[in-house]
Amino acid sequence: MASLAPILENHVGTTVSREVKTRGRASRWPAKVEATRAAKARAESARALLCVDDISVSFDGFHAITDLTLIFNEGELRSIIGPNGAGKTTLMDVITGKTRPDTGTVFFVHDLENLTTLSEHQIAHKGIGRKFQRPTVFHTHSVRENIELAIAGNKGVCRTLFARYSKAQVERVDECLEKVGLKDQAKGVAGALSHGEKQWLEIGMLLAQEPRVLLVDEPVAGMTSSEVEKTSTLLRSLRGKHTVVVVEHDMEFVRSLESDCVTVLHEGRVLAEGSLADVQGDRRVVEVYLGE
Ligand code: ADP
Ligand code: MG
Repeated sequence: MASLAPILENHVGTTVSREVKTRGRASRWPAKVEATRAAKARAESARALLCVDDISVSFDGFHAITDLTLIFNEGELRSIIGPNGAGKTTLMDVITGKTRPDTGTVFFVHDLENLTTLSEHQIAHKGIGRKFQRPTVFHTHSVRENIELAIAGNKGVCRTLFARYSKAQVERVDECLEKVGLKDQAKGVAGALSHGEKQWLEIGMLLAQEPRVLLVDEPVAGMTSSEVEKTSTLLRSLRGKHTVVVVEHDMEFVRSLESDCVTVLHEGRVLAEGSLADVQGDRRVVEVYLGE
């Protein structure tokens, strides 16, 4: 198991904030983030990559997320399930910087930078990719160009489309098309793809940016059963190389993912966490969710 100790030693003395220094606190946990003891203990004892630490979010006094701590491991495939309104999408909004939490932090264990202080763009740049429920692809551009645009990021559409690509870039685009099963459609316009294919293209566009963490919110909504199956195969194939976090309602789909870990959210808190069999056997989970 990886220990955080060497990482922490590297940071101590270089990243301790002025505030903490002046207060004279001798903490081994660098002050980029002030992790809770719970998050720290769990992050140290796992192959932890990303830590959501003691997050609370409220909307006009309504508590959407309360004191939520989650650790995502390097390369794991995690499913997050829970009834409507459990706070699943809000959690993704917090991780990606769309929503600022009232309290708590989100950080990568390797650098401890507090992501909740960064912009959405900066967070994406740090390696967190997010797939929204509705596919957002460039309809009038070819499938291939969509991937090229994603690699180029925000350099500008015209400049990108007329740019010369290095062999390595061409190979990277090919690899992404291959991964998401759209190589045969590469020359066709993205607008002509089926709903499922557009979802895969968007996943391909995210993969082109080589994210450490890929967040996917209800990817199979509106898909045909064969598309659902293919999406499951695709997401499973990403395990190991990326940390993949899938929010999903469809239990059949969640079962097919064979996730490393399933987190059940309810009213903004973790109700249960473990293997799918574990959480399905949990009496509280059956009461509030699976038995509904
Ligand atoms: P889930 O994705 O699990 O269905 P959400 O995270 O979308 O749940 O929502 C959690 C709760 O927070 C819901 O009760 C929802 O109505 C509320 N909520 C989410 N976003 C907002 C917002 N921007 N303003 C007010 N309430 C919100
Ligand atoms: Mg949602």
